[in-house]
Amino acid sequence: ATPTAILVGSGRAAQLGVVIRGPEVLELTRSLDTMVLDKTGTVTTARMSLDAAASAGIGSESWLGRSDSPTLDPLMLAGALEAFSEHPVAAAITAAARERAESEGSRLPGAEGFVNHEGRGVTGRVTGTASEPGSAREVAVGRASWIAERGIALPGHLSEALEAAESTGATGVVVAIDGQATAVLAVRDTVRASSATAIAELRALGIRPILLTGDNARAAAHVAGQVRIDPADVRAEVLPAEKRDVVAELQASGAVVGMVGDGVNDAAALAQAGTRGLGLAMGSGTDVAIEAADITLVRADLDAVVAAVRVSRATLRIIK
Ligand code: ADP
Ligand code: MG
Repeated sequence: ATPTAILVGSGRAAQLGVVIRGPEVLELTRSLDTMVLDKTGTVTTARMSLDAAASAGIGSESWLGRSDSPTLDPLMLAGALEAFSEHPVAAAITAAARERAESEGSRLPGAEGFVNHEGRGVTGRVTGTASEPGSAREVAVGRASWIAERGIALPGHLSEALEAAESTGATGVVVAIDGQATAVLAVRDTVRASSATAIAELRALGIRPILLTGDNARAAAHVAGQVRIDPADVRAEVLPAEKRDVVAELQASGAVVGMVGDGVNDAAALAQAGTRGLGLAMGSGTDVAIEAADITLVRADLDAVVAAVRVSRATLRIIK
């Protein structure tokens, strides 16, 4: 590789919104044969929204039969806690809760002792609800399997609601208040307009796309269907630490793996991909992901992944 060709290639890449870490990155890009794609925030936009109709147990009346205060609404309590999280699920819940609070002329309660359980959910105490100033409620919001691990059972009507929501591709999370499951919140995101085409182009370039997510299998299958990723190439309900293992296993089987991600939960997998292949971070993503990656995609768009591969191959042709 001549330095000039690499320089021209890097410059061309930069024009296309592909920022590479160093000169060796272009050469690595052209040898990729597998591309692991994070779902939420990568294949889909990171903007999730609450589907109130598919949710269950929200509204001030439904919570343990009490209608005395809108701030006892599980949506409010969940929103108060999720205000401390950067997760797309959290953003959807907090936005919906704020909207409801505003429409009722109230505000979100405060929270303390917030703990983020990466890839699972959040816990903390929600304080100072309007009807009970000075009171505190232990709140947990997260995936059903994790709520169950905490010894909290899901009543029949909520597990039905969860199943119904997930069967339409939503992400369902459980809200537990003082150790009791009281609501299921369904949130949805949207596949980026360019994702299906970009994934088809990657395949045409000889690169196998794999969908990787911590989300439930039904939501993952729903997105895979929209972008035509083989159901056998979908890995769902994968915890953040296990995302790295998925990349390592593909590498062990001989694949040269690129991984595209945006979240804190993708950082370890991006770094792992970088040991033998490449980590690519969405420019819209978290700093942790960007720092762990070899390539930053300035436009939050999978088109940029295709552009990176094309430029790297064109640069190789110039060198030859
Ligand atoms: P992804 O791989 O789709 O980015 P994560 O690994 O971050 O997903 O999260 C996996 C699952 O854990 C989510 O689909 C959700 O059910 C749950 N979860 C993660 N963070 C939160 C949160 N802040 N609030 C509620 N649920 C969460
Ligand atoms: Mg993500």
